[in-house]
Amino acid sequence: MANKITRPLGTEDVTPKQIYKWYTVERLARETAESFGFHEVRIPTFENTNLFLRSVGETTDVVQKEMYTVKAKETEFTLRPEGTAGTIRSMLQNGMLNDALPQKVYYILSCFRHERPQAGRLREFHQFGIEMAGSQGPTSDAEIIALAKTILDNAGLKNIALHINSIGCPTCRAEYHKALRAYFTPRKDELCDTCLTRLEKNPMRLLDCKSPICAEIGKDAPLILDYLCDDCKAHFEKLQEYLRAMDIDFMINPKIVRGLDYYTKTVFEFITTDIGAQGTVCGGGRYDGLIEQMGGKPTPAMGFAMGLERLILTMESQGCDFEQPKTCDLYIAPMDEAAVPKAMQLGQTLRVSGYQVEYDLMERGLKAQMKYANKIGAAFVMVLGENELNTGKAKLKNMQTGEQTEIALDETFEEKFDDIAVQFMFHDIVEDFEKECQL
Ligand code: ATP
Ligand code: MG
Repeated sequence: MANKITRPLGTEDVTPKQIYKWYTVERLARETAESFGFHEVRIPTFENTNLFLRSVGETTDVVQKEMYTVKAKETEFTLRPEGTAGTIRSMLQNGMLNDALPQKVYYILSCFRHERPQAGRLREFHQFGIEMAGSQGPTSDAEIIALAKTILDNAGLKNIALHINSIGCPTCRAEYHKALRAYFTPRKDELCDTCLTRLEKNPMRLLDCKSPICAEIGKDAPLILDYLCDDCKAHFEKLQEYLRAMDIDFMINPKIVRGLDYYTKTVFEFITTDIGAQGTVCGGGRYDGLIEQMGGKPTPAMGFAMGLERLILTMESQGCDFEQPKTCDLYIAPMDEAAVPKAMQLGQTLRVSGYQVEYDLMERGLKAQMKYANKIGAAFVMVLGENELNTGKAKLKNMQTGEQTEIALDETFEEKFDDIAVQFMFHDIVEDFEKECQL
């Protein structure tokens, strides 16, 4: 037999048994974003490589080490390593910034980065992200942080720390870069090769290096907060005031500089200690210079991205609830070939009304069919044989209580089934409620 082909390292399958967790987080994120007035955008999986070089930045890990770039004919493309660049490109290309501002969009997409795979770090992973363009005041910074926090709260998560920082604007950053160069240059022989280039081009990136040696050297590096200009300082203070007004706990962490080059002023991360070393579930910030840098009119903007694998891992580790997958409402078991068309006809009627209905597709005997109905967790089972076809009546069996109800197989079937099913669901709710009251 030929060798089996397995999935590439750092990718994951989501099987039907797990998919309900994804539906849960995707629905949560979508509904929360919509409640803040954000609307979905869909962008291509790959873009011109230059888009990422220009926006994510040439001194970042993503561009220097992690991009999946393919050459097709004469053009070079890159699988998106993140969603901001493509989203902003799309806003510009579709003239969205000429519409009412701020433009507020969200996306759910896969990202590709060639990293060393480990728990919570994949080569293909998924992000829920949002971008807001057009507003420059700290109200929008607070709004975006509140949106991320609401998603985490709605997911039922606890103990996720919000770290905030300001990395200033080009004016204050110039001074800060000078200070960083002065600090790192005496020890430049010990830095990794990537950081050596960063020292020249973008010394703040040094603080984001994952190498333990560079991290150790950077421990006492000057802090950006000491270099903020008056405008950036006021912006940062106002943001804190707004967060307090919304009862959102935060800590100031001057070490947060974020992995991508385009950030200005506010940056933030939501961090958990529940899923090991890769604990940043959500990261974001303001990027006031990016739109202009990409060829648009100067337009302030901001956004965040949430890693959905990390979100699900954290929810699992904290025992949060996921919506249960929908299961079979009715399994129809034809006893012989003659009953099959009736099973099909009744099944179709209920499916049109939104019920999940299955009947035998394996030509199984009655016993094997009942076993299957049990396995798929069918709520009701109805056996159709010669007798049922002749009398035009069948027994609907409630698989949980064993109770049987007679049901006519005529045009009243759907309405009667509806009655019984609703009663059954209602019965469950009442039972749950009674249980809760007794506690
Ligand atoms: P990290 O420091 O963990 O590498 P990052 O700064 O590269 O994160 P961003 O580019 O800000 O991450 O992406 C936003 C979010 O996407 C992260 O906070 C994380 O939840 C998720 N994420 C990033 N890279 C990966 C990955 N390789 N696998 C799974 N999730 C990821
Ligand atoms: Mg990274």
